Amino acid sequence: MLRIENLHATVDDKPILRGLDLSVNAGEVHAIMGPNGAGKSTLAYVLGGRPGYEVTEGSVTFNPVRAEPPHPVWAEPVEALPSSSSPPKEEGRPSTSSGQTDSGVLNLLEMEPHERAAAGLFLGFQYPVEIPGVSNVQFLRTALNAQRRARGEDELSAGDFLRLARAQADALGLDMEMLKRPVNVGFSGGEKKRNEMVQMGIIDPRMAILDETDSGLDIDALKAVGEGINRIMRKPDKAVLLITHYQRLLDYVKPDFVHVLAGGRIVRSGGPELAHELEREGYAQVAA
Ligand code: ADP
Ligand code: MG
Ligand code: MG
Repeated sequence: MLRIENLHATVDDKPILRGLDLSVNAGEVHAIMGPNGAGKSTLAYVLGGRPGYEVTEGSVTFNPVRAEPPHPVWAEPVEALPSSSSPPKEEGRPSTSSGQTDSGVLNLLEMEPHERAAAGLFLGFQYPVEIPGVSNVQFLRTALNAQRRARGEDELSAGDFLRLARAQADALGLDMEMLKRPVNVGFSGGEKKRNEMVQMGIIDPRMAILDETDSGLDIDALKAVGEGINRIMRKPDKAVLLITHYQRLLDYVKPDFVHVLAGGRIVRSGGPELAHELEREGYAQVAA
């Protein structure tokens, strides 16, 4: 679903990412851990297309394939496709994705941020923005309908949207009244993160990149957010990149792969046990 190859990126001409490789298949949750200043947030910003983060080398492709494609062009059963159209299986890991054809592969770095979002990429940031004067409901309905239009789907009516929003707010334990307030203004840290999960539930993305979604959360909020990620994103046709300092979120959202990012590249990869090893021994030891 996401393939990052030899990614180099600079901020203010300062090299931050230095040859990062990472592949994420549909159905997988990958955790990225690493010391402060390793480039984790820079990676999230680059994937989101934030201005000021300049890619100097490498490629990122995104293949937001759906299990039940809405477009007639993809409607043919996977089994009926000639085998030559399926991608080569990567060695050593199961391929859970299906129906991929070259036509579905997007060159992410050539797309505008809103095009990336419309294609199914969701970014959750360490410090969610506040938008005074715009309610969560307005903001989300506009965002969702823009994405639906971009995909050739009908817009949701106000009533249908409110039903969807209420269901997502209920699932996250966020008072519906919060969704009528300006985006994140005056929200506590925990409320911002729950709100972000409500956003994710409404947008229903193919892939989520969540940057320190666990930072500053108390135990109840951490559990709610973890359950939200599982409920919304733990699907065979979705994928998650979970950027986190700590093992504790991974108690709720079990990663399939754990990577250590240090010095702007992935220096180690493993299974969930790697997160425990990092917690025990520290980054300096493990990334050395
Ligand atoms: P992490 O999220 O892993 O803690 P970041 O991606 O935030 O790391 O930062 C990586 C490096 O890039 C750090 O050395 C940081 O100081 C630098 N950096 C990040 N953003 C900027 C910026 N806007 N201007 C200059 N340097 C930056
Ligand atoms: Mg940091
Ligand atoms: Mg960061």
